[in-house]
Amino acid sequence: MNIVVQKFGGTSVATDASREMVIQKVVAAKNEQELPVVVVSAIGRKGSPYATDTLLDFVSTHVGSITDREYDLLLSCGEIISAVVIATLLNHNGYKAKALTGGQAGIITDKNHKNADLVYTHTDPILACLEQDIIPVVAGFQGVTADGEVTTLGRGGSDTTAALLAASLKADRIEIYTDVDGIMTADPRVCEKARIIPAISYNEVFQMADSGAKVIHPRAVEYAMRSQIPLIIKNTFTDEKGTCITQTKIDTSQKECDHIITSIAHRNDRVQFTIQENELSGKHLLELIAEKDISIDLINIFPQYKVFTIDNQHQASLELLLKDNSYQYTLVEDCAKVTVIGERMTGIPGVMARIVKVLQKTHIEILQTADSLTTIGCLIRQENVSGAISALHDEFLL
Ligand code: ADP
Ligand code: MG
Repeated sequence: MNIVVQKFGGTSVATDASREMVIQKVVAAKNEQELPVVVVSAIGRKGSPYATDTLLDFVSTHVGSITDREYDLLLSCGEIISAVVIATLLNHNGYKAKALTGGQAGIITDKNHKNADLVYTHTDPILACLEQDIIPVVAGFQGVTADGEVTTLGRGGSDTTAALLAASLKADRIEIYTDVDGIMTADPRVCEKARIIPAISYNEVFQMADSGAKVIHPRAVEYAMRSQIPLIIKNTFTDEKGTCITQTKIDTSQKECDHIITSIAHRNDRVQFTIQENELSGKHLLELIAEKDISIDLINIFPQYKVFTIDNQHQASLELLLKDNSYQYTLVEDCAKVTVIGERMTGIPGVMARIVKVLQKTHIEILQTADSLTTIGCLIRQENVSGAISALHDEFLL
């Protein structure tokens, strides 16, 4: 029988009505004579009583700073609650099910608390469930180290759990259930014209996710791609077919295949720094930044200065470092990076020219650009994100 890994995100497990839909999706797989392995996120988004962000807010308000070990132990609770709830509801509906923590499900990680990497999985605990006709319901986003310490996998980690389990169980496919009908040409929250993409390649979705599209975690795409397991993004609340992600776009009848650009992603909260060179500091500036664990993007190096962007959560710490080392700098706050993605743009001239022309026509200033074989990114002011995406969408997708 086929194993199918079904992952349900925070909104999918948030209410009685949505949990009812979750149970229906799992039961549907059972009725197709498949073996569902369920992975769940914590219940609801920020503000919900058991959401991950709520747990964090509680600690920062009432407790203060917390060690990385305790942080992980705390954060793992949200998914455990969710797994217990879903497994129990399946039981109540007449299906044998068992809630498992990441560690109980056999997920072993390195010791890097708060952003652990998966090392390997013991498949025995899950296979034992499946052999006894028990549906395993695994708490996403977490694992344990080889010596039993609980770790978490960073934002979007439940997607990663699902993909990792699918790879080690040699699953037939991974179904990621969320609150949209599939992967869309842009984030529907900022672009009204965004449409569903029926079929897309791992590489393009990886680029989208890596460029800020929240719909799936890039690491999950990487795991699925490595093991060549199809990833399907679906809506918990509808019966739409969703988006099928494989090596190549299989649905060649779809119009998307005619387009140079498949989608547009964006990442908010960027700050652009321009830093003058100085002779005072012994260490190379980029090394100092790396030591602070600040990741930089869109970097251009000139003889007299460097320009790059960072996430605004690191702004204060970078400014302190620059002042301590006597660097002169200027910055532009409230920026966003908009990235257009398309495998077919490789080797096609003039895409950058079209982007620049469209944004100029819309009176949107481009602060910086970067390109790779399959992406072009533009730094703009955050207030222009919606206008830029809409203009680019018209230019390339409609
Ligand atoms: P979950 O809690 O189910 O994991 P997420 O919030 O992580 O859900 O991801 C789903 C959200 O991703 C959608 O509600 C949508 O706003 C956002 N999103 C961003 N870019 C895209 C895109 N290109 N296609 C679809 N959804 C997108
Ligand atoms: Mg998610």
